[in-house]
Amino acid sequence: MTYPNTQLFIAGQWVDAADGRTLAVHNPATGKEIGRVAHAGKADLDQALAAAQKGFETWRDMTAIERNKIMRKAAGLMRERAGAIGAVLTQEQGKPLAEAKGEAMAAADIIEWFADEGLRIYGRIVPSRFNLNVRQMVVKDPVGPVAAFTPWNFPINQVVRKVAAALSAGCSMLVKAPEETPAGPAALIQAFVDAGIPPGVLGLVYGNPAEISSYLIPHPVIRKITFTGSTPVGKQLAALAGQHMKRVTMELGGHAPVIVCEDADIALAVKSAGAAKFRNAGQVCISPTRFLVHNSIKKEFADAFTKYATGLKVGDGSLEGTQMGPLANPRRLTAMAEFTQDAVKRGATVMSGGERIGDAGNFWQPTILSDVPLEAKVFNDEPFGPMAAIRGFDQLEDAIAEANRLPFGLAGYAFTRSLKNADLLARRVEVGMLWMNMPAMPSAEMPFGGVKDSGYGSEGGPEAVEAYLNVRSVSIANV
Ligand code: NAD
Repeated sequence: MTYPNTQLFIAGQWVDAADGRTLAVHNPATGKEIGRVAHAGKADLDQALAAAQKGFETWRDMTAIERNKIMRKAAGLMRERAGAIGAVLTQEQGKPLAEAKGEAMAAADIIEWFADEGLRIYGRIVPSRFNLNVRQMVVKDPVGPVAAFTPWNFPINQVVRKVAAALSAGCSMLVKAPEETPAGPAALIQAFVDAGIPPGVLGLVYGNPAEISSYLIPHPVIRKITFTGSTPVGKQLAALAGQHMKRVTMELGGHAPVIVCEDADIALAVKSAGAAKFRNAGQVCISPTRFLVHNSIKKEFADAFTKYATGLKVGDGSLEGTQMGPLANPRRLTAMAEFTQDAVKRGATVMSGGERIGDAGNFWQPTILSDVPLEAKVFNDEPFGPMAAIRGFDQLEDAIAEANRLPFGLAGYAFTRSLKNADLLARRVEVGMLWMNMPAMPSAEMPFGGVKDSGYGSEGGPEAVEAYLNVRSVSIANV
């Protein structure tokens, strides 16, 4: 399967950077260069911004049903092409083929749901308290051209959540997608192009992330910023957006706690949390990390979880039977080694993994650490890799306090058969998304986002569309 080079998409055309610059793209399973991606400079960004403004005016003035038809057609194309797109995604990102194809299929579902949600953006009429001859209307308008910044862990999914919601609201969007994984986002944009999206409504650029964001965020054409990535970068971009009074959605890092109560179904907990932990080699913002297990079942849980982790088949995602692929880049391998060494130095036990696999590609063993001290780095910083850390607890209140100790508040998980425990957990665990007795199951129709340092705003549900709308009140006196 060949891997395509990726150009910039500006004003309805695939183009090279004006100065011809490109960056290398590597396959994380082999470390080898597989293609190039165009590196945008200021001249390219200026063209893309002008096109985004024109594209916005075109898209805003189309009817919701016209927009819906184009979006639905793009969804159909994603579904038809999911096999081929998945093969490209696996080469650039590393995830197993089934996960990669699943990402393209899920993109179709997301586009369809938002396409239909766009048909139901209603205002309202509010009776005047002063004068019957006054008609008071609440109207909702698209905010305008949006700048989106997305990471490499879900090259398509991270883009499509933003694009689909923005398009349904009537916005245009200029996407700065990840340089490490450029072809997946390009395939998504191509589906919209083939579905007939007018020029300028979508733009796609790559380059130096800091240079691009510092140029786009203050630019007067851009009316809203949406970013997915790490908390430190999110804080920088949100601060810059604040200086220029731009609307912002931030989907940032997490450090998901998993509370396993003494009355939990242990087999279910291992299966659900295990699947969630090692999916995409743990490079998932909602990946479970801090396993807080009741002391009465801690050994049983840790042994079963270790058996699960050691049974996983790790390898090149394009090979049949691979359950976990490589990490996306060598930076993550260095990080995994640091997290492991730090935990061991502080007294944690390595139940499984803890080492790199081979010396070609970015493969890391599924790693389970037990009896991890609270001060260990892995219990405080997001590992963003295939690493789970276990600690025991005696009182549920203590586990909840530990779950809430960190500044993050993205996802959380809990396992219990007790309604009383479930109710307490639902009320007290400070996360944007809580899954109990099940793996994470995000979907287009459910809000997706965090609280505290994990960001603000939602990338799912009607709230995701509202994030791209201005609310205005218009009153007309019938004179
Ligand atoms: P990083 O913080 O350097 O980059 C994270 C993402 O932000 C990348 O896509 C990068 O291109 C982008 N970015 C960085 N600086 C930027 C800037 N100034 N303007 C615009 N975009 C910018 O980290 P990394 O090594 O690529 O990834 C590791 C960390 O990133 C992880 O520990 C994790 O916390 C976070 N991350 C989170 C998600 C998520 O889904 N929330 C996805 C990928 C990475």
